[in-house]
Amino acid sequence: MKPNKPFNSFGPKGLLLGIIFVVGLFAILTKLNDAAKDIGTISYKEFLDKVRLNQVKKVHKSGQFLEGLTKDNQRFETVVAERPADFDLMEQHNVDFSVSTPPMSSGAWHLMMIIGILMVLAILSGLYFMRQMKNGGKGGSSGGLFNIGKSKAKMFLPSMIKERFSSVAGAHEAKEDLQDIVDFLKDAPKYQRLGARVTRGALLVGEPGTGKTLLARAVAGEANCPFFSVSGSDFIEVFVGVGASRVRDLFAEAKKKAPCIVFIDEIDAIGRQRSASVGGGNEEREQTLNQLLTEMDGFETSKEPVIVLAATNRADILDKALIRPGRFDRQIVVPVPDLVSREEILRVHLKNIKHVESLDVKGLARGTPGFTGADLANLVNEAAIIASKKNQEEVTMFDFEEARDKIMLGKESKTKILTDYDKKVTAFHEAGHALIRLLMPKDTDPLHKVTIIPRGGALGVTHFLPEREKYLRTKEELLASIASSLGGRAAEELVFNEISTGASSDFSHATDIARAMVCSYGMSEALGKRVYVDSYDRKGGFSEKTFELIDAEITKILNEQYDVAMNLLREHRDKLDKLSFELLEKETLYAAEIYELLGIEPRADLRLVKE
Ligand code: ADP
Ligand code: ZN
Repeated sequence: MKPNKPFNSFGPKGLLLGIIFVVGLFAILTKLNDAAKDIGTISYKEFLDKVRLNQVKKVHKSGQFLEGLTKDNQRFETVVAERPADFDLMEQHNVDFSVSTPPMSSGAWHLMMIIGILMVLAILSGLYFMRQMKNGGKGGSSGGLFNIGKSKAKMFLPSMIKERFSSVAGAHEAKEDLQDIVDFLKDAPKYQRLGARVTRGALLVGEPGTGKTLLARAVAGEANCPFFSVSGSDFIEVFVGVGASRVRDLFAEAKKKAPCIVFIDEIDAIGRQRSASVGGGNEEREQTLNQLLTEMDGFETSKEPVIVLAATNRADILDKALIRPGRFDRQIVVPVPDLVSREEILRVHLKNIKHVESLDVKGLARGTPGFTGADLANLVNEAAIIASKKNQEEVTMFDFEEARDKIMLGKESKTKILTDYDKKVTAFHEAGHALIRLLMPKDTDPLHKVTIIPRGGALGVTHFLPEREKYLRTKEELLASIASSLGGRAAEELVFNEISTGASSDFSHATDIARAMVCSYGMSEALGKRVYVDSYDRKGGFSEKTFELIDAEITKILNEQYDVAMNLLREHRDKLDKLSFELLEKETLYAAEIYELLGIEPRADLRLVKE
């Protein structure tokens, strides 16, 4: 239950309003009923007197109630006794007399109303408790309507599942693989007819946030079948046997609802390789795992299917028994999205916000390598929040830039104030990176922007955008990357003639590239075209001499590129100064601004911000 949110639309407030409404209605109806009776109730004796005095024109008797009209058109009402003599009397006095079976008595009418009120109350409180249940468990948004017994699983009926394959951008191969499962769920008999061995489970393998849950829900959505959702860690309790019984509960429930999907997130919590050791915690986990295997083996193939989808980012640590045929025999890889998929995912989430029409979605996708679907959804949301705070009508590219930097490097630290000297050093350092990148004539990743606003742990950042996902890089590109990494330090040395500690990550980046060139890519003349695995491990199978050779070669590459950077900066000192001072002034510069400032011909397709 969520104690902090007791007042939702069907909360106590709603309940109260409902009661007031019903009571009010009751009062009005009672009044109306009274109005209809407002014809003068008279005693039976009085009535008989009226008859005797020939004052009564006509009466109508219904049960014990008698309604009548006098000759001067007065309506009256009375309660009569059943005395046959009175009928004779009326006949004698020419009263137009009629009888009907009693309609609902006034008492019955009230009873009906009370029942009605109770029913309305029951419905209202029913709705209220359903809401409560929905909000129960893990927070409101993801909450399902039903918690299944003791299993902690949640069940979603098809009507509650909005996700379709079209909700999942990119992940084309995964969707293709899952389509089989959808087809099977939709028409199991077609496959069972010929005795085909059918899938019982599939493993969705991918980093957190890549859309595994989304895909699983989309399968249920496409197949229009119920969806049970549970996390592997939900099964595990301190007490041995609890997990196993939860698995049993869950599958008992799922079989009743078949065809359906059971989705187990973080299956590694129970599916890790069973070890030889016997310990309390392991024993519980193993019992749970065994129960899961038993359940999966126990599915009757002739029946409507229960398909188990499980998610993990570590397929390698799973117990082999889990991936045997008839269990999770399919592995579906859900990758971190590439450039094209990132653009598609962004477009899906951009539909939910109001943004400028000119938004450069391609550029955004290029600027977010390594972002998962969840990161991208977060990016869009952050940008919208930033724009809202600024009271904008629409979200602009600048908001996205800000959101991206925020997500990438942690919140902008407004508190970290640099001294003027630190700021100046940082400006030259970043300008050094950027300028080398611009001056190296090689086909390297284009510059995106440079900033000296400190964020997270970094004092300044120079961003480059890969134009496409690059899997192959030339030797020239790698060398240019090294030079540009070292350009920051080179600029510091050139301008201030002293060196700061601000370049250690630059050095490790440059060293990584150099080492890879020597040891993995065979790009060193001295060491030749071969691979040196574990080159930094002295026991790596090659001699001390080779090791020293590798070390020397890496150092040589780094030194050479440092000199390249230094010479370029010396040669273009005017540009370095100009860029640095502009940076000090504006703190953030985009590529287009830098090209204009320095009078360098921009490379095509560079402008991230089009304004
Ligand atoms: P996982 O289960 O792999 O950790 P989720 O399925 O929970 O990831 O993804 C979290 C959120 O990220 C989703 O609800 C969705 O908003 C967004 N998302 C992830 N992948 C995609 C995608 N391929 N297309 C659209 N949105 C995605
Ligand atoms: Zn640097």
